[in-house]
Amino acid sequence: MAASMKKIVLMEGDQFNRLTAVRAAGSDRKGYQLWVFRCECGTEKILRVKTVKNEEVRSCGCLRRLLYRRMGLVQKRTFTYKGETLSQAEWGRRLGKTRERVRQLQNEGRLKDYLDKHL
Ligand SMILES: [Zn+2]
Repeated sequence: MAASMKKIVLMEGDQFNRLTAVRAAGSDRKGYQLWVFRCECGTEKILRVKTVKNEEVRSCGCLRRLLYRRMGLVQKRTFTYKGETLSQAEWGRRLGKTRERVRQLQNEGRLKDYLDKHL
């Protein structure tokens, strides 16, 4: 084991930003130590311990979504309509359209109008 791969000691319950260490999960193919972390939002995710400790990763991804929302950017893979957030594929199923078509409508800023008309 190379020095850079030295095992990082983690304890169950250790907290890093929004993430809490739950249990060890072995290592990935590149030899990085993995743990299951639970995010404050309740999502559990297997992450590289190194990236969590170095604060490269601070949440399961929800923090980024929150920041995007605060910055007014659209998260491209989901769409919120009348308080419901679904993936493009799920909206597609409701509309009887393909995900590609939904994505296209969303990119053109016409998805809301389309849903108004067709749902
Ligand atoms: Zn989260």
